[in-house]
Amino acid sequence: MAYLKKTIFTAASGAALLLTLSSCSDAENASGLISSPEALVDAISAARPGDVLTLANGTYTDLEIVFTGEGSADAPITLTAQDKGKVILSGYSSLSLSGDYLKVSGLVFKDGQTPGKAVISYRTSKDDLAYNSRVTETVIENYNPPLRSEVDSWVLMYGKNNRFDHNYLAGKRNTGVTVAVRMNTEESRENNHRIDHNYFGPRQILGSNGGETLRIGTSHYSRSDSKTIVENNYFDRADGELEIISSKSGLNILRNNTFYKSRGTLTMRHGNNTTVEGNVFFGENADHTGGIRVINAGQTVTGNYMEGLKGTRFGGALVVMNGVPNGPINRYDPVEKARIENNSIINSDNIQLGAGSDEERSAPPSNSTFSGNLIYNEDGRDTFTVYDDMSGLSFSDNIIGESTDQKLKTGFTKKPVALNRANNGLLYPQGADYGVPRDLKVTQKAETGPDWYPKSEPFVAFGSGKTRAVSPGRNTIFDAVNAAEPGDVIALAAGDYTVSRMLEINKPLSFTGGGAANLVFERSALFQIEDGGSLKISGLNISGREAPDNAGNSVIRTSPYSMMENYRLEIESCNFEALDINHSFNVISAAKSTFADNIEIKNSTFKDVSGYGLMLDQEADDYGIYNAEYLTIENSKFENIGKALVTYYRGGTDESTFGPHFRLTGSTLTNIGFDKRNKTGAALLLHGVQVTDITETTISSSKPVIINHTVGEPKTNITGNVFVATPDVQVTELNSVFENTAVIKNNESRAK
Ligand code: CA
Repeated sequence: MAYLKKTIFTAASGAALLLTLSSCSDAENASGLISSPEALVDAISAARPGDVLTLANGTYTDLEIVFTGEGSADAPITLTAQDKGKVILSGYSSLSLSGDYLKVSGLVFKDGQTPGKAVISYRTSKDDLAYNSRVTETVIENYNPPLRSEVDSWVLMYGKNNRFDHNYLAGKRNTGVTVAVRMNTEESRENNHRIDHNYFGPRQILGSNGGETLRIGTSHYSRSDSKTIVENNYFDRADGELEIISSKSGLNILRNNTFYKSRGTLTMRHGNNTTVEGNVFFGENADHTGGIRVINAGQTVTGNYMEGLKGTRFGGALVVMNGVPNGPINRYDPVEKARIENNSIINSDNIQLGAGSDEERSAPPSNSTFSGNLIYNEDGRDTFTVYDDMSGLSFSDNIIGESTDQKLKTGFTKKPVALNRANNGLLYPQGADYGVPRDLKVTQKAETGPDWYPKSEPFVAFGSGKTRAVSPGRNTIFDAVNAAEPGDVIALAAGDYTVSRMLEINKPLSFTGGGAANLVFERSALFQIEDGGSLKISGLNISGREAPDNAGNSVIRTSPYSMMENYRLEIESCNFEALDINHSFNVISAAKSTFADNIEIKNSTFKDVSGYGLMLDQEADDYGIYNAEYLTIENSKFENIGKALVTYYRGGTDESTFGPHFRLTGSTLTNIGFDKRNKTGAALLLHGVQVTDITETTISSSKPVIINHTVGEPKTNITGNVFVATPDVQVTELNSVFENTAVIKNNESRAK
């Protein structure tokens, strides 16, 4: 529905600049408040150094502010809000600025989308850039176009000596870096920008490349210096993709930023002589949380703190890459003269040295030092993986805890370390000065963003709302769904339910049936998850016997339009049957341009399904895009599924994403995949899935499990299963020159 709503909204408001004011009187105008686009244009053109232009409180729709002027260091020209936070810019509103010594504060961009390449741009045309200018205490929240694949940024910095500080940015859901420092003309290089005290709030997993939170430069100008300072920012669950920050230019300083539970890493992708100092990474043991990735020459990585980081491979706690000798500008330059000192890496999974070593990336680090670092894992496991000759990285004076399988010996003192948590929230070894300095000041969430804007949570949990009791009957559920609030639980009493109108789920809702609620439905789907929706069902018995006698029904499907918000789907203790009134009846169908954070099926049974169990293969363009991040199936039973139980597809060779992930355990599959329309030829088709675990499962009289490894180093683990009258698992490496990396062991195979 969001797609339709936005379309209608655009048609109604696109004709002209519309201004809706909720609180504005002539008296206020007389007092100097600006309340119309015309008045704003006039005020800007008349502004002199030291002037303050004040927008009246209210909601402005489709207001494109072009702020130009020449202030001075002592007397900037200021554009601000009557009350900070009460000037709302919505629809296709934007801000661009050029000139000298301009300052903007107090604006809130929400309920809209960027009209062009950016919401806030530090230039008004290709040649008119901003200098010595500042955007502060401004909010951009959930300001997205209706298509996930549409590319834009929220903030583009051009010019020189500009500052972006104390701003709040959360909920970017489409492709494109959130904040970018551009260096495309001479006037924007060696820019000395400062990006500080911003709150980079939750950015959902994009499920493709282009989900960086901050990028400084691009590969084209990567051998130029940017001299951008990024400090005291808070990155809160900035999960978009593999790179949280991508530094692609030289002489940047990234210091004292806090990264909380954010997937991905701070990457020095291009450019030399950058300093990364005093940053704090709290992974909270969340999947794919990473630290710092070092590439290129002259990088300094000192006094950084990493704790509880689970990232692997290029996404580890500390990754020093191999480079391409004399390579082209867009490849990995070798690491030279790096200083990696006094960092603390605690209870984190991976430190990778010489990562990416292959025929092309053949140059290991040289003339570099690794000293004074504290490396400690409670479980004694060695975190290092060494991929190449490390004689160019000189190790000295490091402390490593009581590692049981220590690979690097020279330059590491192995001794037991007792860690205490200090007042700054960080762990320090007792009685020894290794790792980060004792006086490291950790940037707190509360110090970032505008202090007048509350930091909201990204989603509503299942079951956090009210419980609404529903009695058996015809369409009784429909009314309850319409009345429900996000987080509510719809509790179905025992009995029979007929659903003749499709249930459109546009908020997080749970349904419970205690195992005695029996549902039939008369439309082509029982549930349709719409943008903003998430669904949990438990204890329901669902039959397809009253569904239309047409091909292509589903019990649960996603909106056919692009969904901007990632959704969650959980099925627990439910029974599904008679999904075979016609062919291609799926249990779950995901549409293109929709993305699940998580799909979970537990303790459920599925019998007589003519289509797929889960159809997650609609991103067929091979752009590295896919339909779901995690799919987990536990302790469930599947019998007579015509097509595959799961078809899960991530095509292409891009390496910017974490998933997809697939886990199947404790389940039984019988007679899966024999429908003549099953074009996968498989009981399970996993194409480009990055992490696969199939364990403790019995697969009988079924088509084979087919796994295609496409890119990266997929982790496939198939152990402890029983295959009865079912062909062997087929794993194919489609692009890799390396050996098949799948672990297939301790499985039993028998004829019957
Ligand atoms: Ca990227």
